[in-house]
Amino acid sequence: MSPMNPRKSDLHTHSLFSDGVETIGAIVKRAMQLRLEVIGIADHFWPCIGSNQGGIGLIRERRGAIELARADFPKIRVLDGAEIDIMPDGTFSQVAGGHEQFDLVIGSVHWSSDSSRWASAVIGASKRRTMDILGHFDGYLSTYRQADGEIVAAALAENDIAVELNSRYAPDNLEFFETARDQGCRFTLGSDAHQLNGVGRNEEQAKLADALNLPLWVPTRVPDE
Ligand SMILES: [Zn+2]
Ligand SMILES: [Zn+2]
Repeated sequence: MSPMNPRKSDLHTHSLFSDGVETIGAIVKRAMQLRLEVIGIADHFWPCIGSNQGGIGLIRERRGAIELARADFPKIRVLDGAEIDIMPDGTFSQVAGGHEQFDLVIGSVHWSSDSSRWASAVIGASKRRTMDILGHFDGYLSTYRQADGEIVAAALAENDIAVELNSRYAPDNLEFFETARDQGCRFTLGSDAHQLNGVGRNEEQAKLADALNLPLWVPTRVPDE
């Protein structure tokens, strides 16, 4: 398998298995039409915010839909992902079956916080080494201090966690990206699409990566490897 082009990826979409409105088949088909090489279906699962009620059965049902889409669209890699809430105490929401079952785990803060609470939660979650990507890092931040950004970036780099460039939550604190870059972090593209017309819409974030010289990445822990 030749190396994948991170510019042709969208690692963060939501289907009707959580708070999105589209089937997985429709999302993957759209991604194919856009000539993406990798599409991540990163639903929320109970009890995460935005999830539908349901345990391991719902997760397995979605996995079946992902496998069908892989069979229908063999030229694109479809990642069986999840977006899991980072809690204020630095743990994750307890999703049935745990993190290891997924190809990709995006850890996200979905509660409003100030800079120091954010830093302590994200650093705690990073040390558990079970997330691949920090989603929309400042989507719910009321304040940001660069000193906190520096210790968060160090924890992410040390635990090999990528930083997401999210198209739905425009970042306010670009200096965090530069700090994460300088610490050695990699960056991913995620539309955070909940509808079909958002899938693959990462042009602005790719431009930002170019402007700030951020190295883009796609995960290698994917099917067939
Ligand atoms: Zn989110
Ligand atoms: Zn999301």
